[in-house]
Amino acid sequence: MSARQPLHPGALLTIDLGAICDNWRALKARLAAADCAAVVKADAYGLGALKVAPALYRAGCRHFFVAHVDEAIALRPALHPDATVYVLHGPLPGAEPEFVVHDLVPVLNSLPQLTAWRELACKLDRQLPAILQVDTGMARLGLSPQELDVVTDDREQLRGLDLRFVMSHLASAEDQANPANRAQLERFRAALARLPVTRASLANSSGVFLGADYHFDLARPGAALYGVAPVAGAPNPMRPVIRLQGRVIQTRIIEAGTPVGYGHSWIATRHSRIATVAVGYADGYLRSLSNRGYVQFDVIRLPVVGKVSMDTILIDVTALGDDTIREGSLIDIAGPDLGVDELAAHAGTIGYEILTSLGNRYARAYLGG
Ligand SMILES: *Cc1c(COP(=O)(O)O)cnc(C)c1O
Repeated sequence: MSARQPLHPGALLTIDLGAICDNWRALKARLAAADCAAVVKADAYGLGALKVAPALYRAGCRHFFVAHVDEAIALRPALHPDATVYVLHGPLPGAEPEFVVHDLVPVLNSLPQLTAWRELACKLDRQLPAILQVDTGMARLGLSPQELDVVTDDREQLRGLDLRFVMSHLASAEDQANPANRAQLERFRAALARLPVTRASLANSSGVFLGADYHFDLARPGAALYGVAPVAGAPNPMRPVIRLQGRVIQTRIIEAGTPVGYGHSWIATRHSRIATVAVGYADGYLRSLSNRGYVQFDVIRLPVVGKVSMDTILIDVTALGDDTIREGSLIDIAGPDLGVDELAAHAGTIGYEILTSLGNRYARAYLGG
């Protein structure tokens, strides 16, 4: 998880823990009575779970979600015992005792997971904590309607379990006008009415913005904590969290007609100045940004020209004065004025993928927290 710091990095990644904590507080403020968890799976969306989660703990967060048990085992010692670490995937068959040993709470997604966890509780002769997930219209994780029938017809199914929450996950929450949201909410309410649990959790980042009906007792935001816009097509209320600055390693002047980069996919139409920056697709600068991406120097937007290579991108810096960009200059690849959502739009993806693709060749600096 904690990548070693490169001694001679081609780029600097600055992660603002204070902004992440402010984003958590802003989400919590929208929730009124409900509590606010933090989803820190995939190494806190690429930003470093061992830095992010303790900072959020100090801000008041007590519920942390990861996807894999290994992520949880790595995170658990970094948090105070009064924080709860939940594992979204639940236990793989045979891995149940690991959850007990490491004080982790599984999300139980299927009857086999529920059965194995109940049998362990019975064997240990103690109540074991769990979240039960029901699928309300995503067909990904959680009890199917048929499995839910089995559980509600036979209350013995939940014996020995300390059910903390019943949860579900929204498929289209960022699209506020989508009727699928309301349909999932209705199915979730119907499932809750049949289960003996009073506490519930439905909203991800975008779900927080769907209104109080979706808040229940615990929201589970991830992306919005890290500055990704939670509502499609609306201004982003979250603070930006990352700044990525790439280093220029060479500049050159080329004449009109000179082809640039792999496959000669860009040809200069004028006398041009080209800068080579030491960030490529191996660093998470997606190849789909070839001839489509922008970087920024001061307030000037500069286009990526030619194909993104594994270790480099080429930038047309003709718009700047001759000596402005030199070997060693830093150019903003992402930052407050060039957000992850904009970068994602240029790349034809979502901010989540931009963040989780960030490579481990960057020098990382953490601010605040
Ligand atoms: C990843 C995930 C979240 C967080 O989603 P965001 O859209 O990043 O806020 C919440 N709940 C579940 C089940 C998830 O898998």
